[in-house]
Amino acid sequence: MHNCIGILPGAAHMLEHNCCNRSERYSENGSFKKFVELNGGMTNATTFMRSTQFIAEVPYQHMHATWDGLVSQVFEPIFKAHNTKLEATIISNERNDERWYPAGNELGHYLSTHVYFDHLVSLRQTMGSDKDLEAFTPALLRHYHRYYFSPKVYAIVAGEIDSDYVCETLERIPTEVIEMPIHFETPRWVKKEYHERKFRDVGRWEYRLSAMFHEPLDVSTIEAINFILEYMANTTHGPLYEWLRTRKGITYDTNPSQCVNEFCHGWTVLFPMSNRSHVKYVRDNVYKQMRKALRDRERLNLEADRILNGRIFNLQTIGSQVDVAQNDLRYFDRIVTETEINGYINKMRNVDFVQTIYNRYFAPEHVGEFCAVPES
Ligand SMILES: [Zn+2]
Repeated sequence: MHNCIGILPGAAHMLEHNCCNRSERYSENGSFKKFVELNGGMTNATTFMRSTQFIAEVPYQHMHATWDGLVSQVFEPIFKAHNTKLEATIISNERNDERWYPAGNELGHYLSTHVYFDHLVSLRQTMGSDKDLEAFTPALLRHYHRYYFSPKVYAIVAGEIDSDYVCETLERIPTEVIEMPIHFETPRWVKKEYHERKFRDVGRWEYRLSAMFHEPLDVSTIEAINFILEYMANTTHGPLYEWLRTRKGITYDTNPSQCVNEFCHGWTVLFPMSNRSHVKYVRDNVYKQMRKALRDRERLNLEADRILNGRIFNLQTIGSQVDVAQNDLRYFDRIVTETEINGYINKMRNVDFVQTIYNRYFAPEHVGEFCAVPES
């Protein structure tokens, strides 16, 4: 519902809050949450850029009742004017904590607004202004609630519950495709070329190399990019880590990260340094080091083995299985199997293939540079 023409800003989040108050099965205010949590479980809801998620975790003997309660909360909420008014002021308070939106601190805010622009949903779209929030009524929420009956809704259930029962419940819920005219800006670089800026809460010279891509990337490409990042910067035998920490002693760590959302994909490697001459040294030599490392067949093989061996620790808990399934569904519309991912990792033993990925996603023309500098 974010950025939808004709829909009041903040609607998705306001709807989420109000659904959690009362439902046909738990009509007393907050009674579903109390049922779950007084039994040692947890329930919550979150609104993302393009979706809202309702979750509940509970000891196994309460699975059935919790499933029924959660479904009722999502599809049979009861909206009352009293709650709608209170949620308006609660959300206003929640919004006022978002000082550095879309990030949690000044540096993150600067990166997302002055280095690149990637926050496609404004704070007003996410949370609503006070005026927007005051305009919500139970009737308006009921009107927007129609959007919940989308064929795109999915449920992830793990644990002691009869899956036939879960499927029957879902089959009884009618669905309808409603066209939603949306307008999103394109993510873009604001200032890609190297620059520095001082921040009060930065302790080191934080040099970042980043790239962003607007086309949706498939799972194999994302895994390949992730492999290269992990390979380069890992603390076991990562070539960048060995170069800058083990041999030169000029950094404590090298930190790679990937950012995937519904509209763009990006990666960053953060090099925390101690002064400008160290930053210059990294800038002058980093591509030479990366290109050399990507021709090292033996080390690429060791890295593939290391990652595959480490993967046996994945998916060992229900929580991690649900997290992975949920991310896959959100970004790829399907659950990606372990066998498939292992296949992508094995492909990275091929030096020519690694080279192709590097040229397309890591070569200097795709990369922006920024250095955050401590204030004193
Ligand atoms: Zn909220």
